[in-house]
Amino acid sequence: MVLLDNKNTTIASQYEKPECLQSPLEPENRLLVSGAAANPYKRSFEALRLPMLGHMGDRTIKMLSEIQEGLRYVLQTKNEYTLAYHGTGTTGMSGVLDNMIEPGDKILVGVMGYWGDKVAKIAQRFGAIVIRMEKSPGSRLSLSEIEAELEMHRPDLLFLVSGESSTCVYQPVEGIGELCYKYDCISIIDVIATAGIQPIRMDENKIDVVYFNTHKGCGGIVGLSPVSYSPRAMSKVKRRQTLPRIYQTDITVQAEAWYITMPKESPHDGWRHSFSICLLYSLREVLARIVEEGIENVWERHADTHRYFTSRAEKLGLEHFVPNPEDRLLATIMFKVPPGKDGYKIVSYISEKYQIDISPGLFVNMGKVLRVGLFGNNANRETAATVIEALESALNSTATDL
Ligand SMILES: *Cc1c(COP(=O)(O)O)cnc(C)c1O
Repeated sequence: MVLLDNKNTTIASQYEKPECLQSPLEPENRLLVSGAAANPYKRSFEALRLPMLGHMGDRTIKMLSEIQEGLRYVLQTKNEYTLAYHGTGTTGMSGVLDNMIEPGDKILVGVMGYWGDKVAKIAQRFGAIVIRMEKSPGSRLSLSEIEAELEMHRPDLLFLVSGESSTCVYQPVEGIGELCYKYDCISIIDVIATAGIQPIRMDENKIDVVYFNTHKGCGGIVGLSPVSYSPRAMSKVKRRQTLPRIYQTDITVQAEAWYITMPKESPHDGWRHSFSICLLYSLREVLARIVEEGIENVWERHADTHRYFTSRAEKLGLEHFVPNPEDRLLATIMFKVPPGKDGYKIVSYISEKYQIDISPGLFVNMGKVLRVGLFGNNANRETAATVIEALESALNSTATDL
């Protein structure tokens, strides 16, 4: 091969072509119900192949506001500062904390499992004084416990996970916002395992900040992390003495990029970084899919799937990990591994025999629990029945004995 610069130098790779990249990628079809990313809605997946638009065209800018409308509908909010960061839910988690925490701020963090613990650690990195409210795996905090801590510590921020998916515990959001108003504190809620699954009602519940991702309850593709900041949260951001540390998730920067604080008529002034147009298409279509069905019907479909799946699982003799039915998450469901059985063997049996992914737990009680996620596109009785069949066969097989 000859270079363009007519010096007659040749360019040769010094390394062999990787052998592994010389055949096409051929993933098999799997049912993804582990509680991690699920099989997306067809409409969301197919949107990835639509013709590409440029970053600053009118249609792209219109799509950004359509996405904002859809996110507000899912969260039931009118918050202007509602948009999606590029990255997974963890980007939203650290982005939100970075915007809300100034060094020395006091944050009260509910720790009921892996995610609350992670947030406590990220908050520490951002220089917050962290106060942990610990609960043993499988239980949640009561409003009066939270109020007692608010009264004692008078924190600037309160953080809770509404769906602690490592223990499958549901922490209701009702009443939290009211308490935070009373104690002059900003509420931040992780709604990754609840948004698009069960009602959050951000405005009615006076929640200040939330983040989630696109591939759990929403039923979309991994890669974006929607966030919403209330006017109350934004007034704390605007009072900051120091800038958030990460540019990419600075809500003030993103509000410009999403044309919230930038006139739509001057698109070239709004550019802050490249958008993944394909992922935005996919999110737009997932939201359109939710709008088409109606959010109440989406919530009801998840509740119906939960009732159907859990009643059939109970008939198989499976015992819930979360003892109190009211504390159970709707769409990420956890059972104890039955006596005499090996949790990891059950998971691999189902994986190999049925091409179904379930999970042996997430950092908490690994191997002692079985976790199933039935949300988004997988929230339906047919999928639930398929998982039940696989579980039944695994439980009846001696291959899964201890
Ligand atoms: C999955 C999950 C996260 C992390 O989201 P990613 O998109 O995997 O980064 C955070 N919180 C909860 C409750 C989750 O279930």
